[in-house]
Amino acid sequence: MEFALDKISGSRLKAKKGLQGICEMCASPMIAKCGEIMIHHWAHVASPCTDSWKENESQWHREWKSNFPEEWREKALNDQATGERHRADIYVPDKELIIEFQHSHISVENIKSREKFYKKLIWVINAENQSFSINSVMKLTNIIESYKQLYNKKQLKINDLYYLDNRQIIELRNLHQLLISKTNLVTYKDNIENIVKTFMSMQNAVMASHSPHENYHCIIKSSVLLHELLESIFEKAIESVNNTLKEKGDFYHYTLSSKTWKYAKMPIFVHHKDSLYLLKSDNVCKLVSIEEFCRKYSS
Ligand SMILES: [Zn+2]
Repeated sequence: MEFALDKISGSRLKAKKGLQGICEMCASPMIAKCGEIMIHHWAHVASPCTDSWKENESQWHREWKSNFPEEWREKALNDQATGERHRADIYVPDKELIIEFQHSHISVENIKSREKFYKKLIWVINAENQSFSINSVMKLTNIIESYKQLYNKKQLKINDLYYLDNRQIIELRNLHQLLISKTNLVTYKDNIENIVKTFMSMQNAVMASHSPHENYHCIIKSSVLLHELLESIFEKAIESVNNTLKEKGDFYHYTLSSKTWKYAKMPIFVHHKDSLYLLKSDNVCKLVSIEEFCRKYSS
């Protein structure tokens, strides 16, 4: 911990050699640890803290927290209903927002219970311990352009639905991935998945047949339905993707070895080298500068 309370005045104290204090969470005695190797911090004298969520404070934690005013750091919060009490890394008062800095592994249960307790939370995780890698710049505009061409109302003929070549199918798959990766498109996810599945099976059926035109009449009806469905869904999808593009910025394809973060519902920023990446989906992230992040949340 960076702070302990003074036994008498109750004011917050920073760790200084020889100082004693009490823990704000469990009221147990604490002692200042001010050695040469570890950062100066407070430690419980005897039993561990009742706030089981806290990990040992690292240099990484301390540096992050130092970007925010002192009174926002290590904020004790209560749940009136359950009596549960935890200490948040950063509490942004006017936004009623919590920022948690996660240096080491965390269980899925722990992610869920923290999100439930804090309600409005942002995660900042240290990539060094999570095997995070950035693969390539996503050329979003290219994908959308090719998609628009493929599905342009004026160009689209029902026959085209059956005679997509492999390249177009791959494009469609990529587009599908991209679309479902956007959180605001979650509602379209099932629809699009079904459409693509239908699409693929039709394509396969035609491919497998020696005489594609025989199949044509059998599936003409469902094709019309498919066509209409595609138009309405993709129109909305284009709109959403365009809105995302208006956001500007650099999008990257990433991989994160830890699967636990897939269960987080709140925004996740990954601190990798000297940058932050906001995870937009399971494989797309957006570059955000640390300065920008701190400016946004510390003022
Ligand atoms: Zn304690």
